[in-house]
Amino acid sequence: MLPKKAKNRYSLTIATFETIIGLEVHAQMNTQTKMFCGCSNDAFGKEANTLVCPVCMGHPGTLPVINGKAVEKAIRASLALKCEIQKNNHMSRKNYFYPDLPTGYQISQYDFPLALKGTVQYEVNGEKKSCGLTRLHMENDAGKLMHRGDVSLVDYNRAGTPLMEIVTDPDLRSAEEASAFVQELRRILIAVDSSEADMFKGMMRFDASVSLRPVGDKKLYPRVEIKNLNSFKALEKAIAYEQKRLTKLWEKGEQPKSEVTVGWLDDEEKTVILREKESAADYRYFPEPDIPPLQFDDASLEKFRAAIELPQEKKNRYVSLGLNEAEAMLLIEQTELQSLFDAVYEKTNDAKRTSSLILTQLIGFLKAANKSIEEAPKKESILELITITDAGTISGNQSKQVLEKMIQTGKSAAEIVKEEGMEQISDTSALEAIVQKALEANTASVEAYKGGKQAALGAIVGWIMKETKGQANPAKVNELLKEQLG
Ligand code: ZN
Ligand code: MN
Repeated sequence: MLPKKAKNRYSLTIATFETIIGLEVHAQMNTQTKMFCGCSNDAFGKEANTLVCPVCMGHPGTLPVINGKAVEKAIRASLALKCEIQKNNHMSRKNYFYPDLPTGYQISQYDFPLALKGTVQYEVNGEKKSCGLTRLHMENDAGKLMHRGDVSLVDYNRAGTPLMEIVTDPDLRSAEEASAFVQELRRILIAVDSSEADMFKGMMRFDASVSLRPVGDKKLYPRVEIKNLNSFKALEKAIAYEQKRLTKLWEKGEQPKSEVTVGWLDDEEKTVILREKESAADYRYFPEPDIPPLQFDDASLEKFRAAIELPQEKKNRYVSLGLNEAEAMLLIEQTELQSLFDAVYEKTNDAKRTSSLILTQLIGFLKAANKSIEEAPKKESILELITITDAGTISGNQSKQVLEKMIQTGKSAAEIVKEEGMEQISDTSALEAIVQKALEANTASVEAYKGGKQAALGAIVGWIMKETKGQANPAKVNELLKEQLG
């Protein structure tokens, strides 16, 4: 029998592993035009090779001009991600040949990127976590290759689209954390209007670096880089797949000895080896000679910083107005809904009323009509409905009916009120107030009526009709007056 001590020592050699994940995120910026030319940046769904010009096609003698709006959007994103902006930075040329890159190089940033050292706070199952960011830099996208049997086709519409590349520190420990992190990152980029970040349109793409190490070990081991993941699901599945595969290798003592690049096959749910990773030296980076260095001053950066409201801050603001967490999250996830809510709240300064109108009535009527938020009435139309309601033209109840009809028909509030003949005041509580006023203002007629002169009632009704510009419902007015006068 082995002595007890030796047995324990043996059991200690069965190591468990920790997964280390870092991400590279490419997010397209939602500018009107491309990064270095005047071509439209709205490539999705357009006929191939229709949004191109000599600059983005890399013709000799053309010169790129940097898109100022793209730089602003990248600055806003950097500040929202708590990065340090490098006040002096410049573009660099990254040389490589690829069929969808007509210039033969990408204009990117290398040794002096726009921003360094950021942080993203995010939540996994209610637990607060934080992920560091190494850098954020600007660059242009390449075109798109399409493979059809034996031939490959290329569409250059996307060549030159402005991109932000955001690189994280190796702070993530599981597929779940990586997924929660990118979802918060996406919310932040949308909140500061830097990217539409529409996953379906490929506006946000991820590369994930995964490596393992024995628990307690401090150093990092050669990583596997998974390229071009296009959805949260693909990101999660690919990381989980590599985590499992690497665990098996480590257990056999055959862990990767150098860095490897792999691709994710969505249909087969596995990775394939693409190549051994290039090193930076292979790209022959040098400062881009065609674009002057960028310089920012503190005052303009401060202006950008002051205008930023992070999704979490927004959420807290909505909760402080009395919304619950789920309602606040709904507004943050759906920017159209959020802008309607904000507009109504700005007008009414009444959170309860805003919440009832937008989160209860509007959403309810949209659902009933089987319509999406994109098909909701425009902001101006909803504000008009409020104006009409507040003016007393229609009652609160009628206002609800009008909203429902607005959603069903797409007509404006004023049109519906007119068509339905709602201008007349039929609301009992509104009429009661007017009747009260009429009784006080027409004491002589009141006395006459009480004295048996039936015709005196007509005089009071006439006064009310004049006062309401003919909008009071006469039948109801008569009814209410008789009630009051016994
Ligand atoms: Zn162009
Ligand atoms: Mn890149």
